[in-house]
Amino acid sequence: MVRTKKLVWLDALMSAATSLYNPEIQKAKEDGRKIVGFMYQELPEEILTAAGCVPIYLRGTGSEGTEFADAYFRQLTCNYTRHTFNQILDGRYDFLDGAVFYNACDHSRRIYDNWKLLPDNPVYHFLYVPKKPGKLAKEFYIDEIKKFIKATEDRFGVEITSERLASAIKLHNKVRCLQQELYAMQQGESVYLTGTELLMVMLAAVSMPRETYAEILEKLIAELKTNQEVFTPKIRLMYAGGHIDNKDSFELLESQGGTIVVDNTGFGSRACAELIREEGDPLEAIIDYYFEEKPAATRQMMTQEARLERAGQLVKDYKVDGVVTARLFMCDIWAFEQFILRSYFNKQNVPVLELEMDYTPEGEGQLRTRVQAFVESIRAGKQDC
Ligand code: SF4
Repeated sequence: MVRTKKLVWLDALMSAATSLYNPEIQKAKEDGRKIVGFMYQELPEEILTAAGCVPIYLRGTGSEGTEFADAYFRQLTCNYTRHTFNQILDGRYDFLDGAVFYNACDHSRRIYDNWKLLPDNPVYHFLYVPKKPGKLAKEFYIDEIKKFIKATEDRFGVEITSERLASAIKLHNKVRCLQQELYAMQQGESVYLTGTELLMVMLAAVSMPRETYAEILEKLIAELKTNQEVFTPKIRLMYAGGHIDNKDSFELLESQGGTIVVDNTGFGSRACAELIREEGDPLEAIIDYYFEEKPAATRQMMTQEARLERAGQLVKDYKVDGVVTARLFMCDIWAFEQFILRSYFNKQNVPVLELEMDYTPEGEGQLRTRVQAFVESIRAGKQDC
Protein backbone atom coordinates (compact mmCIF):
# COMPACT_ATOMS: atom_id res chain seq x y z
CA MET A 1 0.00 0.00 0.00
CA VAL A 2 1.33 3.43 -0.94
CA ARG A 3 -0.07 6.13 1.32
CA THR A 4 -1.07 9.33 -0.45
CA LYS A 5 -1.31 11.40 2.75
CA LYS A 6 1.20 11.82 5.54
CA LEU A 7 -0.08 10.48 8.85
CA VAL A 8 1.68 12.46 11.56
CA TRP A 9 0.69 10.26 14.49
CA LEU A 10 1.48 7.05 12.66
CA ASP A 11 4.95 8.41 11.87
CA ALA A 12 5.43 9.36 15.53
CA LEU A 13 4.68 5.82 16.72
CA MET A 14 6.66 4.16 13.94
CA SER A 15 9.70 6.20 14.85
CA ALA A 16 9.33 5.42 18.59
CA ALA A 17 9.22 1.72 17.76
CA THR A 18 12.31 1.80 15.60
CA SER A 19 14.68 3.54 17.97
CA LEU A 20 15.73 2.73 21.55
CA TYR A 21 16.52 6.19 22.93
CA ASN A 22 13.65 7.84 21.07
CA PRO A 23 12.50 11.45 21.64
CA GLU A 24 9.68 10.39 24.01
CA ILE A 25 12.15 8.53 26.24
CA GLN A 26 14.56 11.47 26.11
CA LYS A 27 11.76 13.79 27.20
CA ALA A 28 10.70 11.46 30.02
CA LYS A 29 14.30 11.35 31.19
CA GLU A 30 14.54 15.16 31.16
CA ASP A 31 11.34 15.24 33.23
CA GLY A 32 13.08 13.12 35.86
CA ARG A 33 11.30 9.83 35.08
CA LYS A 34 13.19 6.59 35.71
CA ILE A 35 13.45 4.35 32.65
CA VAL A 36 13.44 0.61 33.32
CA GLY A 37 14.21 -2.08 30.75
CA PHE A 38 12.16 -5.24 31.13
CA MET A 39 11.66 -8.57 29.43
CA TYR A 40 8.39 -9.08 27.66
CA GLN A 41 5.70 -10.52 28.24
CA GLU A 42 5.13 -11.98 31.67
CA LEU A 43 6.72 -9.28 33.79
CA PRO A 44 3.99 -7.03 35.22
CA GLU A 45 4.67 -3.59 33.74
CA GLU A 46 1.97 -2.09 35.96
CA ILE A 47 4.25 -2.47 39.01
CA LEU A 48 6.95 -0.38 37.32
CA THR A 49 4.39 2.21 36.24
CA ALA A 50 3.07 2.33 39.82
CA ALA A 51 6.61 3.15 40.96
CA GLY A 52 6.60 6.15 38.61
CA CYS A 53 8.96 4.46 36.12
CA VAL A 54 8.69 4.06 32.36
CA PRO A 55 8.97 0.35 31.47
CA ILE A 56 10.52 -0.32 28.08
CA TYR A 57 10.97 -3.61 26.29
CA LEU A 58 14.62 -4.72 26.03
CA ARG A 59 15.47 -5.59 22.45
CA GLY A 60 18.22 -5.34 19.88
CA THR A 61 16.65 -2.62 17.73
CA GLY A 62 19.24 -0.82 15.62
CA SER A 63 21.88 -3.53 16.05
CA GLU A 64 23.88 -4.32 12.94
CA GLY A 65 26.02 -7.11 14.31
CA THR A 66 26.83 -9.27 17.31
CA GLU A 67 30.61 -8.88 17.41
CA PHE A 68 30.73 -7.70 21.05
CA ALA A 69 28.10 -10.14 22.34
CA ASP A 70 29.81 -13.07 20.65
CA ALA A 71 32.50 -12.91 23.33
CA TYR A 72 29.79 -13.82 25.88
CA PHE A 73 27.46 -16.12 23.95
CA ARG A 74 27.95 -19.22 21.87
CA GLN A 75 26.63 -19.45 18.32
CA LEU A 76 23.85 -21.67 19.69
CA THR A 77 22.24 -18.66 21.39
CA CYS A 78 19.39 -17.01 19.51
CA ASN A 79 20.02 -13.75 17.75
CA TYR A 80 17.48 -11.73 19.71
CA THR A 81 19.63 -12.40 22.77
CA ARG A 82 22.93 -11.66 21.05
CA HIS A 83 21.75 -8.51 19.26
CA THR A 84 20.17 -7.20 22.48
CA PHE A 85 23.32 -7.84 24.48
CA ASN A 86 25.40 -6.29 21.71
CA GLN A 87 23.39 -3.09 22.07
CA ILE A 88 23.97 -3.21 25.83
CA LEU A 89 27.74 -3.62 25.36
CA ASP A 90 27.72 -0.86 22.76
CA GLY A 91 26.28 1.55 25.34
CA ARG A 92 22.86 1.88 23.65
CA TYR A 93 21.09 1.20 26.94
CA ASP A 94 23.23 3.47 29.07
CA PHE A 95 20.20 5.73 29.61
CA LEU A 96 18.45 3.04 31.72
CA ASP A 97 17.91 3.56 35.45
CA GLY A 98 17.04 -0.07 36.05
CA ALA A 99 16.50 -3.42 34.35
CA VAL A 100 14.49 -6.46 35.39
CA PHE A 101 14.35 -9.95 33.96
CA TYR A 102 12.44 -13.17 34.34
CA ASN A 103 12.99 -16.77 33.27
CA ALA A 104 11.41 -16.34 29.83
CA CYS A 105 13.77 -18.88 28.25
CA ASP A 106 17.30 -20.21 28.73
CA HIS A 107 18.68 -17.88 26.06
CA SER A 108 17.28 -14.52 27.09
CA ARG A 109 17.86 -15.03 30.83
CA ARG A 110 21.60 -15.16 30.11
CA ILE A 111 21.41 -11.46 29.26
CA TYR A 112 20.73 -11.01 32.98
CA ASP A 113 23.67 -13.24 34.00
CA ASN A 114 26.13 -11.50 31.69
CA TRP A 115 24.90 -7.97 32.28
CA LYS A 116 25.33 -8.45 36.03
CA LEU A 117 29.04 -9.02 35.38
CA LEU A 118 29.50 -5.57 33.86
CA PRO A 119 30.46 -2.55 35.97
CA ASP A 120 27.69 -0.01 36.74
CA ASN A 121 24.99 -2.24 35.32
CA PRO A 122 21.36 -1.21 35.98
CA VAL A 123 20.07 -4.74 36.63
CA TYR A 124 18.31 -4.94 40.00
CA HIS A 125 15.97 -7.92 39.96
CA PHE A 126 15.17 -11.35 38.50
CA LEU A 127 11.61 -12.60 38.81
CA TYR A 128 10.87 -16.33 38.67
CA VAL A 129 7.63 -16.93 36.81
CA PRO A 130 6.31 -20.52 37.08
CA LYS A 131 5.75 -22.34 33.82
CA LYS A 132 3.05 -24.56 35.30
CA PRO A 133 -0.44 -23.52 36.43
CA GLY A 134 -1.89 -24.65 39.79
CA LYS A 135 -2.28 -23.59 43.40
CA LEU A 136 1.31 -24.21 44.53
CA ALA A 137 2.72 -22.39 41.52
CA LYS A 138 0.43 -19.45 42.15
CA GLU A 139 1.51 -19.18 45.80
CA PHE A 140 5.12 -19.17 44.64
CA TYR A 141 4.29 -16.50 42.03
CA ILE A 142 2.59 -14.28 44.65
CA ASP A 143 5.78 -14.39 46.76
CA GLU A 144 7.87 -13.58 43.71
CA ILE A 145 5.70 -10.56 42.87
CA LYS A 146 6.05 -9.29 46.43
CA LYS A 147 9.84 -9.60 46.17
CA PHE A 148 9.73 -7.72 42.86
CA ILE A 149 7.71 -4.92 44.43
CA LYS A 150 10.11 -4.68 47.37
CA ALA A 151 13.15 -4.61 45.05
CA THR A 152 11.54 -1.85 42.94
CA GLU A 153 10.63 0.19 46.02
CA ASP A 154 14.20 -0.11 47.35
CA ARG A 155 15.72 0.74 44.01
CA PHE A 156 13.70 3.90 43.41
CA GLY A 157 12.87 4.93 46.98
CA VAL A 158 9.10 4.89 46.48
CA GLU A 159 6.21 3.10 48.11
CA ILE A 160 4.05 1.13 45.70
CA THR A 161 0.67 1.63 47.32
CA SER A 162 -2.68 0.11 46.33
CA GLU A 163 -3.75 3.51 44.99
CA ARG A 164 -0.70 3.70 42.75
CA LEU A 165 -1.31 0.14 41.50
CA ALA A 166 -4.97 0.90 40.80
CA SER A 167 -4.08 3.96 38.78
CA ALA A 168 -1.39 2.02 36.85
CA ILE A 169 -4.00 -0.63 35.98
CA LYS A 170 -6.34 2.09 34.67
CA LEU A 171 -3.61 3.56 32.49
CA HIS A 172 -2.52 0.21 31.03
CA ASN A 173 -6.15 -0.80 30.48
CA LYS A 174 -6.76 2.46 28.63
CA VAL A 175 -3.86 1.56 26.32
CA ARG A 176 -5.31 -1.94 25.84
CA CYS A 177 -8.79 -0.58 25.00
CA LEU A 178 -7.34 1.73 22.33
CA GLN A 179 -5.30 -1.13 20.90
CA GLN A 180 -8.42 -3.33 20.79
CA GLU A 181 -10.12 -0.56 18.79
CA LEU A 182 -7.20 -0.57 16.37
CA TYR A 183 -7.37 -4.35 15.90
CA ALA A 184 -11.13 -4.13 15.34
CA MET A 185 -10.37 -1.74 12.44
CA GLN A 186 -8.35 -4.52 10.77
CA GLN A 187 -11.20 -7.05 10.78
CA GLY A 188 -13.26 -5.71 7.88
CA GLU A 189 -12.76 -6.39 4.20
CA SER A 190 -10.78 -3.15 4.03
CA VAL A 191 -8.08 -2.35 6.57
CA TYR A 192 -6.49 0.87 7.78
CA LEU A 193 -2.94 -0.31 8.43
CA THR A 194 -0.46 -2.66 6.87
CA GLY A 195 0.75 -5.43 9.18
CA THR A 196 4.13 -3.72 9.48
CA GLU A 197 2.45 -0.51 10.62
CA LEU A 198 0.19 -2.39 13.03
CA LEU A 199 3.10 -4.27 14.61
CA MET A 200 5.22 -1.12 14.91
CA VAL A 201 2.31 0.74 16.54
CA MET A 202 2.05 -2.12 19.05
CA LEU A 203 5.79 -2.12 19.65
CA ALA A 204 5.71 1.62 20.32
CA ALA A 205 3.55 0.88 23.37
CA VAL A 206 6.50 -0.76 25.11
CA SER A 207 8.99 1.85 23.89
CA MET A 208 7.71 5.06 25.53
CA PRO A 209 5.70 6.42 28.50
CA ARG A 210 2.23 4.87 28.42
CA GLU A 211 0.44 8.19 29.03
CA THR A 212 2.07 9.67 25.92
CA TYR A 213 1.41 6.51 23.93
CA ALA A 214 -2.29 6.54 24.86
CA GLU A 215 -2.59 10.19 23.78
CA ILE A 216 -0.85 9.57 20.45
CA LEU A 217 -2.75 6.34 19.77
CA GLU A 218 -6.06 8.10 20.38
CA LYS A 219 -5.03 10.75 17.85
CA LEU A 220 -3.85 8.10 15.40
CA ILE A 221 -7.20 6.28 15.52
CA ALA A 222 -9.01 9.58 14.86
CA GLU A 223 -6.51 10.38 12.10
CA LEU A 224 -7.09 7.01 10.41
CA LYS A 225 -10.86 7.35 10.60
CA THR A 226 -10.86 10.91 9.27
CA ASN A 227 -8.35 10.16 6.58
CA GLN A 228 -10.42 7.21 5.31
CA GLU A 229 -7.45 5.85 3.37
CA VAL A 230 -8.26 2.16 3.57
CA PHE A 231 -7.18 -0.65 1.29
CA THR A 232 -8.47 -4.11 0.51
CA PRO A 233 -5.88 -6.86 0.96
CA LYS A 234 -6.03 -9.52 -1.74
CA ILE A 235 -4.32 -12.11 0.47
CA ARG A 236 -4.94 -11.81 4.21
CA LEU A 237 -2.20 -13.23 6.42
CA MET A 238 -1.77 -13.86 10.12
CA TYR A 239 1.75 -13.60 11.49
CA ALA A 240 2.83 -15.64 14.52
CA GLY A 241 6.32 -15.56 15.96
CA GLY A 242 8.59 -14.98 18.92
CA HIS A 243 11.19 -12.28 19.45
CA ILE A 244 11.20 -10.93 15.91
CA ASP A 245 10.49 -7.21 16.18
CA ASN A 246 12.36 -5.74 13.23
CA LYS A 247 10.38 -3.53 10.84
CA ASP A 248 12.36 -4.83 7.86
CA SER A 249 11.35 -8.42 8.67
CA PHE A 250 7.63 -7.60 8.58
CA GLU A 251 8.04 -5.54 5.41
CA LEU A 252 9.69 -8.54 3.80
CA LEU A 253 6.72 -10.76 4.72
CA GLU A 254 4.37 -8.23 3.12
CA SER A 255 6.49 -7.58 0.05
CA GLN A 256 4.91 -10.22 -2.20
CA GLY A 257 1.26 -9.23 -2.27
CA GLY A 258 0.11 -10.61 1.10
CA THR A 259 -0.97 -8.34 3.96
CA ILE A 260 -0.66 -9.19 7.64
CA VAL A 261 -4.11 -8.26 8.94
CA VAL A 262 -3.52 -9.69 12.40
CA ASP A 263 -0.73 -11.19 14.48
CA ASN A 264 -0.38 -13.69 17.27
CA THR A 265 2.58 -12.19 19.12
CA GLY A 266 3.34 -11.21 22.70
CA PHE A 267 3.73 -7.49 22.01
CA GLY A 268 0.88 -7.55 19.49
CA SER A 269 -2.63 -8.95 19.79
CA ARG A 270 -1.88 -10.91 22.98
CA ALA A 271 -0.88 -7.70 24.79
CA CYS A 272 -4.35 -6.18 24.57
CA ALA A 273 -6.71 -9.14 24.32
CA GLU A 274 -7.78 -8.97 27.99
CA LEU A 275 -8.11 -6.16 30.49
CA ILE A 276 -7.02 -6.27 34.12
CA ARG A 277 -9.91 -6.26 36.59
CA GLU A 278 -10.42 -2.75 38.02
CA GLU A 279 -12.55 -3.80 40.99
CA GLY A 280 -11.24 -5.16 44.28
CA ASP A 281 -7.62 -5.43 45.39
CA PRO A 282 -5.35 -4.16 42.57
CA LEU A 283 -2.41 -6.39 43.42
CA GLU A 284 -4.61 -9.49 43.33
CA ALA A 285 -6.02 -8.31 40.00
CA ILE A 286 -2.50 -7.93 38.53
CA ILE A 287 -1.47 -11.36 39.81
CA ASP A 288 -4.61 -13.04 38.42
CA TYR A 289 -4.15 -11.34 35.06
CA TYR A 290 -0.51 -12.31 34.59
CA PHE A 291 -0.85 -15.76 36.12
CA GLU A 292 -4.01 -17.02 34.44
CA GLU A 293 -6.09 -14.46 32.53
CA LYS A 294 -3.77 -13.04 29.91
CA PRO A 295 -3.49 -15.22 26.74
CA ALA A 296 -0.77 -17.75 27.50
CA ALA A 297 2.79 -17.29 26.28
CA THR A 298 4.38 -20.15 24.34
CA ARG A 299 6.57 -21.13 27.31
CA GLN A 300 3.62 -21.89 29.59
CA MET A 301 2.93 -25.56 30.09
CA MET A 302 -0.53 -27.11 29.77
CA THR A 303 -1.83 -24.18 27.72
CA GLN A 304 -1.43 -25.74 24.29
CA GLU A 305 -5.15 -26.19 23.62
CA ALA A 306 -6.01 -22.66 24.69
CA ARG A 307 -3.18 -21.24 22.55
CA LEU A 308 -4.35 -23.17 19.49
CA GLU A 309 -7.96 -22.27 20.05
CA ARG A 310 -7.04 -18.59 20.23
CA ALA A 311 -4.94 -18.81 17.05
CA GLY A 312 -7.84 -20.57 15.27
CA GLN A 313 -10.27 -17.90 16.42
CA LEU A 314 -8.03 -15.11 15.09
CA VAL A 315 -7.96 -16.81 11.69
CA LYS A 316 -11.77 -16.87 11.65
CA ASP A 317 -12.30 -13.36 13.03
CA TYR A 318 -9.87 -11.72 10.61
CA LYS A 319 -10.80 -13.92 7.61
CA VAL A 320 -7.20 -15.03 7.24
CA ASP A 321 -6.16 -16.85 4.03
CA GLY A 322 -2.83 -18.12 5.30
CA VAL A 323 -0.65 -18.19 8.41
CA VAL A 324 3.04 -17.24 8.43
CA THR A 325 4.99 -18.51 11.42
CA ALA A 326 8.56 -17.43 11.99
CA ARG A 327 11.19 -18.34 14.52
CA LEU A 328 14.68 -17.09 15.10
CA PHE A 329 17.54 -19.50 14.44
CA MET A 330 18.21 -21.61 17.57
CA CYS A 331 14.88 -20.82 19.23
CA ASP A 332 13.57 -24.16 20.48
CA ILE A 333 10.40 -22.73 22.07
CA TRP A 334 9.18 -21.50 18.70
CA ALA A 335 10.30 -24.67 16.93
CA PHE A 336 7.70 -26.53 19.04
CA GLU A 337 5.13 -23.80 18.56
CA GLN A 338 5.57 -23.90 14.80
CA PHE A 339 5.08 -27.65 14.83
CA ILE A 340 1.85 -27.56 16.82
CA LEU A 341 0.49 -24.60 14.83
CA ARG A 342 1.25 -26.40 11.57
CA SER A 343 -0.44 -29.62 12.73
CA TYR A 344 -3.48 -27.69 13.97
CA PHE A 345 -3.96 -25.58 10.83
CA ASN A 346 -3.22 -28.49 8.47
CA LYS A 347 -6.27 -30.25 9.90
CA GLN A 348 -8.33 -27.15 9.16
CA ASN A 349 -6.92 -26.74 5.64
CA VAL A 350 -5.44 -23.36 6.47
CA PRO A 351 -2.18 -22.87 4.52
CA VAL A 352 0.88 -22.37 6.72
CA LEU A 353 4.33 -21.07 5.83
CA GLU A 354 7.10 -21.81 8.35
CA LEU A 355 10.17 -19.61 8.29
CA GLU A 356 13.44 -19.52 10.17
CA MET A 357 14.79 -16.00 10.31
CA ASP A 358 17.62 -13.95 11.67
CA TYR A 359 16.89 -11.05 14.05
CA THR A 360 17.95 -8.70 11.28
CA PRO A 361 16.79 -10.16 7.96
CA GLU A 362 19.54 -12.14 6.29
CA GLY A 363 19.26 -14.46 3.33
CA GLU A 364 16.59 -12.03 2.23
CA GLY A 365 16.37 -13.30 -1.35
CA GLN A 366 15.61 -16.84 -0.27
CA LEU A 367 12.96 -15.73 2.23
CA ARG A 368 11.35 -13.48 -0.36
CA THR A 369 11.11 -16.41 -2.78
CA ARG A 370 9.46 -18.60 -0.16
CA VAL A 371 6.95 -15.89 0.77
CA GLN A 372 6.24 -15.28 -2.92
CA ALA A 373 5.59 -18.99 -3.56
CA PHE A 374 3.28 -19.12 -0.51
CA VAL A 375 1.27 -16.08 -1.56
CA GLU A 376 1.03 -17.37 -5.14
CA SER A 377 -0.25 -20.74 -3.96
CA ILE A 378 -2.98 -19.07 -1.89
CA ARG A 379 -3.88 -16.83 -4.82
CA ALA A 380 -4.13 -19.86 -7.14
CA GLY A 381 -6.28 -21.70 -4.55
CA LYS A 382 -8.66 -18.74 -4.35
CA GLN A 383 -9.00 -18.56 -8.13
CA ASP A 384 -9.90 -22.28 -8.27
CA CYS A 385 -12.79 -21.78 -5.85
S1 SF4 B 1 13.59 -16.00 20.24
FE1 SF4 B 1 13.27 -17.93 21.35
S2 SF4 B 1 15.26 -18.45 22.21
FE2 SF4 B 1 15.31 -16.27 21.66
S3 SF4 B 1 14.71 -15.19 23.49
FE3 SF4 B 1 12.86 -15.50 22.29
S4 SF4 B 1 11.99 -17.40 23.08
FE4 SF4 B 1 14.11 -17.31 23.78
